[in-house]
Amino acid sequence: MAHGSLLRVGKLTSRFPSEEPIPPHRIKVVSIHPIDVILHKRDGLVLSDAEIQTFVRGLVERESASYPPADAPTESQAAALLMAIFLRGLNPQELAALTQAMRFSGETLDTSSLHSFTVDKHSTGGVGDKTSILIAPIVAAAGLIDPMISGRSLGHTGGTLDKLETIPGFRTQLPLPEFLAILQKCGFAMAGQTPTLVPADRILYALRDHTGTVESPYLITASIMSKKLAAGLNALVLDVKTGSGAFMSKYAEAQLLARLMVETGERAGTRTVALLTSMDQPLGRFAGNWVELQECLELFQHFSPDCAFTLPPEKLRLSSDLLALTHALTGHMLHLGGKAATPESGAVLSAQLLADGSAYKRFLQMVALQTTDPSSEIVILSGAKNPRISPTSHEAPYLAAFASPVAFHNPAATRTLTAARAGFLSAMDCKQIGWAVQRLGAGRTHPGAPVSAHAGIEMHAKLGDRIAIGQPLATLFSEDPALLDEPEEMLRETLQISDAPPTPIPLIREIIMKDQLA
Ligand code: URA
Repeated sequence: MAHGSLLRVGKLTSRFPSEEPIPPHRIKVVSIHPIDVILHKRDGLVLSDAEIQTFVRGLVERESASYPPADAPTESQAAALLMAIFLRGLNPQELAALTQAMRFSGETLDTSSLHSFTVDKHSTGGVGDKTSILIAPIVAAAGLIDPMISGRSLGHTGGTLDKLETIPGFRTQLPLPEFLAILQKCGFAMAGQTPTLVPADRILYALRDHTGTVESPYLITASIMSKKLAAGLNALVLDVKTGSGAFMSKYAEAQLLARLMVETGERAGTRTVALLTSMDQPLGRFAGNWVELQECLELFQHFSPDCAFTLPPEKLRLSSDLLALTHALTGHMLHLGGKAATPESGAVLSAQLLADGSAYKRFLQMVALQTTDPSSEIVILSGAKNPRISPTSHEAPYLAAFASPVAFHNPAATRTLTAARAGFLSAMDCKQIGWAVQRLGAGRTHPGAPVSAHAGIEMHAKLGDRIAIGQPLATLFSEDPALLDEPEEMLRETLQISDAPPTPIPLIREIIMKDQLA
C-alpha cells in the first residue's frame, strides 16, 4: 500500500487541506503507518486517537519486543513526529490521547487494593524546592495516600531523588509490589520511575533532548501527566513555576502549561488543580542535596513537640516561603481528598499536622521502610527528648544523620559572600543561582554521574531585605575547594543591591481549576 494515502474512516480528512474530500465509497479500512501520522500532523490535520495509540504502541514495541512489527515507527520517524507536534501543537483531544497512550505504554500502579484516596503533587522544577519532602508525610498523616514518584536534577533545578539519596542507606529504586506495601504501611512512599513504568516517555524524552523539542508545552504536559496518571491518582495538585528560576520563565507560557495539564488530568478522570507560583528566588534557606533535607529535618524537629530542637527566629523566617507554599499545596490536596472543606482550611490542617509531630513520625517511618533493611520498622523520633530506642548505626544508619542534621553536613570547603554595599536585596536571576548550585557539585556533569551530597548554598537574605555593608548574603558549600570560585562569581554578579526595595512578587500568582478552563 502506498504510504501517504488517506487512512481515516468516518471523518473525511485530507492530507492537504486544499484537496477535495474523498467520497466514502473510495475509503478503505487500512492499517495505520507512521509516515501518515507524521504527514497528517505536519500538514495541520487532527490526529485520531487510533493514529496516536498505534504510533506510541509501535514505538515501545520497536524498543522492547523480540520481533517488533515491521512498520513500527523508527527513531527518526518519532523525532519527525515530535518536531511536527512542536510546531503544530495538539488540540485537547489529541493531547488527551497522547497522554493516555503514554500512560498505558507499560506497567501502571494499581492502588485499588489500598481502598483510600490517592493524591500527589508535582512541581515543574525549581531552585531549593523541597516541598515534596514536607508535603508527602503531611498528606499521609491526614489519612490520604501519596504515591510519590519523583525525578532527578534536571538542568539548573534540583531533583527529589538526589536529595533523598543523601540519607545513608536510602533506596529510591523500589519494585512496584514493595512500593505498594510501603504505601499500605505508612501512607506514602518516595521513589524513582521504574524501567517498566511509562516506557514511552523514556523513549520520547531522550529523543526530545536531542531534537530541540523539549520546550513544547504539549509534549511537557503529555510527559508529566502520563507519569502521574500511571500512578493511579484520584487527584493531583500541580506547582507550575514561573519567574527567573523556572523552565517556563514567561508568565503566559507557564499559564498555558498549567491549563493544558489541568485539562488533561480532568479528561483522564483525575481531579487536577494547578498553582502558578513564583520562582524568582530560591525557595527557603538552602539549595543543594543534603542541605535541603537538613532544612526539612530542622523544620520537622522545630515544630515537633517531642523534639528538643528549636530554630532561631531568623532561620525560621528564611524558610517562611517554603512553609507557606507547602501548606498552600497541601491545603488543596487535603481539600480534594475530602479532609478539608476548603483549600484554606486544608492549609490550616496541614500546619497542625506539622506542629503536632505526626508528619515527622510518618517521615521517619517512610525512611525506615526505604533504608537498606526493608524489614526494619523502627519508628523513632530522632532528636527526641526521650527517644524510645537508642539506635545503633547498624539498626538505622540514617538516625545519626537525623539526630544532628547540621553536624552531618560535612562539605570540604565553605565560603561566604558578603554585601559590597548597603541597600535592599532587589533582584537576582534565580536560574543563575540554580546553575551555581549545580556547579558546586550538586548537579551532574553528564547523565548518570554521581552528585555531591554536601554541595549547595545557604541564602542569608530574601528579596526585599534591608542589607548592611559586609552582611553575609550567601554561603557556598562544596566537596572540592576548586569548585567554589566560579559559583561565587555567579552569585556576586546576580545578587543585586539597590537603594529602593523591589516591588514584592506574590508567591502564589494564580490558581487554575477545571471550572476556569472554558
Ligand atoms: N519533566 C518531565 O517529566 N517531562 C518534561 O517534559 C519536563 C519536565
